[in-house]
Amino acid sequence: MASSAPKPSLLPALFSMKCPSCRKSTVFINKSIFPLGKCLAMKDECEVCGQRMKSESNNGGGINYALTMMLFFLNLLWYWPVFGLSYKDNSVFYFLGVSVTVVVLAQPYLMRLSRMLYLYMYTAFGHSRRVNTGD
Ligand SMILES: [Zn+2]
Repeated sequence: MASSAPKPSLLPALFSMKCPSCRKSTVFINKSIFPLGKCLAMKDECEVCGQRMKSESNNGGGINYALTMMLFFLNLLWYWPVFGLSYKDNSVFYFLGVSVTVVVLAQPYLMRLSRMLYLYMYTAFGHSRRVNTGD
């Protein structure tokens, strides 16, 4: 019965910071990003499937940089229609200021998300610990 359970879909699991292997348990110790000092604290392993969460190579730093740049430019999508952008006045500088603020505020979440992406890239669904040879 357990084996026929539907597989939770990938993207909702990713964005809700669920274990990459069973997609049931959470990866981070605190659900909230607060307190900020503990926002990246991860469990040693998943209590549901035993997937190891911590890896010495998982820093997600490069992914975080890419996400930060992406978010920075995505801000154009709402800022432009709402406030307008023109090279004739200072609106570009206002946009830069607003965009930097948004990126900084989103940073704890982006840092978590990049760790999640890293985990998901290196962990296939249902491959926790057990060695899977054929396939
Ligand atoms: Zn798990």
